[in-house]
Amino acid sequence: MKKFKKILVANRGEIAIRIFRACNELGIRTVAVYSNEDKCSLFRTKADESYLIGKNKGPIEAYLSIDEIINLALKKGVDAIHPGYGFLSENPEFAKKCEEAGIEFIGPTHIMMEQLGDKIKSKLVAKSVGVPVIPGIEKPISSEEEAIKFARYCGYPIILKAAAGGGGRGMRIVRNEEDLIKEFHSAKNEAKKAFGIDDIFIEKYLEKPKHIEVQILGDKYGNIVHLYERDCSIQRRHQKLIEFTPAFSLSKEKREAICNDALKIARAVNYRSAGTVEFLVDMYGNHYFIEMNPRIQVEHTVTEMITGIDIVQSQILIAEGYPLNSPEIGIYSQSDVDIRGYSIQCRITTEDPSNNFAPDTGRIDVYRTGSGFGIRLDGGNGFTGSIISPYYDSLLVKTTSWSRTFEDAVRKAIRSIKELKISGVKTNAAFLINVLNHETFLKGECDTNFVADNPELFD
Ligand code: ADP
Repeated sequence: MKKFKKILVANRGEIAIRIFRACNELGIRTVAVYSNEDKCSLFRTKADESYLIGKNKGPIEAYLSIDEIINLALKKGVDAIHPGYGFLSENPEFAKKCEEAGIEFIGPTHIMMEQLGDKIKSKLVAKSVGVPVIPGIEKPISSEEEAIKFARYCGYPIILKAAAGGGGRGMRIVRNEEDLIKEFHSAKNEAKKAFGIDDIFIEKYLEKPKHIEVQILGDKYGNIVHLYERDCSIQRRHQKLIEFTPAFSLSKEKREAICNDALKIARAVNYRSAGTVEFLVDMYGNHYFIEMNPRIQVEHTVTEMITGIDIVQSQILIAEGYPLNSPEIGIYSQSDVDIRGYSIQCRITTEDPSNNFAPDTGRIDVYRTGSGFGIRLDGGNGFTGSIISPYYDSLLVKTTSWSRTFEDAVRKAIRSIKELKISGVKTNAAFLINVLNHETFLKGECDTNFVADNPELFD
């Protein structure tokens, strides 16, 4: 067992704070890195030490400065780096360079990342262990003709996806051949621009599916468990807005089958650390693997609430070499993962839903939050006087509610969001309350088209 003394978080905002907290509770010193634009951001003050990176770089590029971050870590005596989500979290080169520098990367190995981080390769892994995948061509499509041939064979609509895509970007739904011809090249160009690789692939587009994902935790010795599923169907433009667990609209048998399929995929690569296996469930109840995210996810909080397992602390302990069945982690077998109650996470963003979710920026003049029993808040830069800049993701704070019943977890979420008083920037709070009050949501039955199908939610 290596005992870490110092961890650097190569990230910013709420997830950096979340990780600092886990380190703090484990008695580990923390190091923040921040860009020029984040000089006044809250997260850097939550670490024991903080250093400017990317002095001559842009706001995003700063957090992508692999060599600078690793050199800084070496200079400051850092034992391990946690990448959070986004930025370098799914970059195998970064994981490899950390390893070469003798710094533990808190996450899967670069080899696992290479196998799973790419949407095409991970579909092949799923197929190899008999997990259903959405009908498609599991290799980059090279020509328009190939795409047309597939679409004629499986029928429209189809979806074009960037192999390296993420965060809901790099996808195009195509409903007829004429559009396919138009979209094919622009999808390739867009993929190249956004992700640096122009590989795109094609699959059948499922109408009105549910997005169900399974949290996985694995150690360095091949022990792997799942921490049950999350329903992340409340999305706008393929980006998640509200997530909850358990996905109670599905039968117990279906949920078990999905969790078991997730385990099969994780086991196929001997997965370690925290990861998420994502599925779509169609209107007939069939589930299909879509991708695996080899990192911590924004919505991990709901799983923590119903299992009582601190996923970030577990990641750190796993990286230190503790097995799942050690007293420190305390997961002796799958049956030790008990779930209790219901949990819902709402992402409060500085966006204006009545203006097509345009990001809003400026100074926060008033910031009052609603906590209380059953409410957990994971905040980024929310405080009076804070400046919300246009450079980063607009996530301001996540409210995660927990209760013994779903109805009560909903009431707590609504109460918490109503208590939240923010002035100076617009937020999506009213929109979230409209969703939480919607009868389809209360039944747990929303599909991924729910937001698009219900424009009254924006009023
Ligand atoms: P990303 O990595 O960008 O998050 P995902 O592959 O996880 O992309 O997909 C995100 C969302 O896009 C899904 O939750 C779903 O709403 C939609 N989606 C992806 N593939 C399909 C598909 N084949 N049919 C229908 N919807 C899809």
